[in-house]
Amino acid sequence: MTDGTQLVDAAEEMLGPLGLARNVAWWDANVEATEENERRRAEAELRYSNALADRELFAAVEAARSADGEPLVRRRLDLLHDLMLPRQVTDSLRARIVEFEASVEGRYSRHRGALRGEEVDDNEIKRVLRESDDPAERRETWEASKTVGAAVADDVRELARLRNQAARSLGHRDWFALSLATDELDEPKLLETLAAADRATAEPFARWKHALDARLAERFGCHPGELSPWHYADPFFQEAPAEGSVDLDPLFRGRDLVALARRTFDGVELDVAGILARSDLFPRPGKCQHAFCMDVDRDGDVRVLANVTDNRDWMDAMLHELGHGVYDLGFDPELPWLLRDTHLVTTEASALLFGALTGEREWLERVLELGASDAAALEDRLQEARAAQLVVFTRWVLVMNGFERRLYADPEADLDSAWWELVSHHQLVMPPEGRRAPDWAAKIHVAVAPVYYHTYLYGAIVASQLRDALRDAAGGLVDRPEAGRQLVERLFAPGLSVRWDRLVEQASGSPLSVESLSREVAAA
Ligand SMILES: [Zn+2]
Repeated sequence: MTDGTQLVDAAEEMLGPLGLARNVAWWDANVEATEENERRRAEAELRYSNALADRELFAAVEAARSADGEPLVRRRLDLLHDLMLPRQVTDSLRARIVEFEASVEGRYSRHRGALRGEEVDDNEIKRVLRESDDPAERRETWEASKTVGAAVADDVRELARLRNQAARSLGHRDWFALSLATDELDEPKLLETLAAADRATAEPFARWKHALDARLAERFGCHPGELSPWHYADPFFQEAPAEGSVDLDPLFRGRDLVALARRTFDGVELDVAGILARSDLFPRPGKCQHAFCMDVDRDGDVRVLANVTDNRDWMDAMLHELGHGVYDLGFDPELPWLLRDTHLVTTEASALLFGALTGEREWLERVLELGASDAAALEDRLQEARAAQLVVFTRWVLVMNGFERRLYADPEADLDSAWWELVSHHQLVMPPEGRRAPDWAAKIHVAVAPVYYHTYLYGAIVASQLRDALRDAAGGLVDRPEAGRQLVERLFAPGLSVRWDRLVEQASGSPLSVESLSREVAAA
């Protein structure tokens, strides 16, 4: 046994229990938001984070990495290195970043825009932008949605400076470059993929938006050239509007969504009964309102938190979260702790693959037991709606990624103009005349989930690729045990023993490419 093996074995023995304690505390704080649970969560987080900040251990990992030739040991050392690297900055800088992040995040959640003298929350803003036919009210609402930007912009800029300082002290160009490096994303490849996604979606998006603008101009009684950002149905134009798409909610009313989810996974012979038994699935006061899946111990204790109500979004969410869950249950049990984990891109791809089934004809027929002719009648419109969703989302990711690249390249730049340049170029939405405001800072992800948005797009690209591969190999996913077997063998079982991009190639038969996505968006 080499020194590297001993080192990484010992590190796993130390990190495993700390990771487990952190996950349990995180779970408890989300199912029951009490001060006591929140305190325990923060403490467990700090213990885990401090262990990863350990300088002696990090130095030993670096030394072992250059010495050890055994590939799986080297792989574990690399992963441990990437986990530890962002925490190897001075304690004072690390503390300042954490403090700033917490303070900015707090202001995002407390801030409310004002509409005609009344405070409005995000739900109200979204409701007005979906429903109101009054352009003046829409304008005020849109402007109210951006006031948080002005309130936090200086601090978000300062956060970017601090993050850059941290990244440079670790030998990286800026925070953008450091984030990609520790996520095993290659920057030239990312830029190439985003450029390809841009080319694949520019024309379908322009065509789709032209038709949308014609409908909106009619609705608001103006010329399409006079449309402003507040005429669209969400403040960032990041989603395709629900109007004109297919409303599947009536199909789910009164149905048992948990049973439908189990039925879906039974059809591919992936057992989710254990996950469901450990999960917390229905709404309750004091509980987190979103949905997530957690691999608590990397040893079979996988749970989903959800707030299931009988509509399509929650059906999609259940399949999505269980798509993460079956991945976590599928690791080869012989793998060591560091390798019993997923890359963000591949687990998101599995989740998106299963979540999207609610929009597929086969699933509606076989699992929801919708009549064949009803399902066939929906098929074209569902495909169109999905394509619209994908192009709109892709254009939005191009804005976010382009902006973050500029932010970290130069936090002192004229970011207000840079934002609108990107929005008008990629989303074809023009700034209101004379607009001078930090609208970029109104997007919370810029501050609290930095350099992350492209992972969602990569996930969607890989999901498209997997769907095509499973269609070729097993005829599809619904009720094809062969498809489930292939996912387990080629995608889930290796855990992190194989780098994510090679895993994509192994699971889909081809390297990451926007080809499958291009075919899907052509229907927009
Ligand atoms: Zn997910």
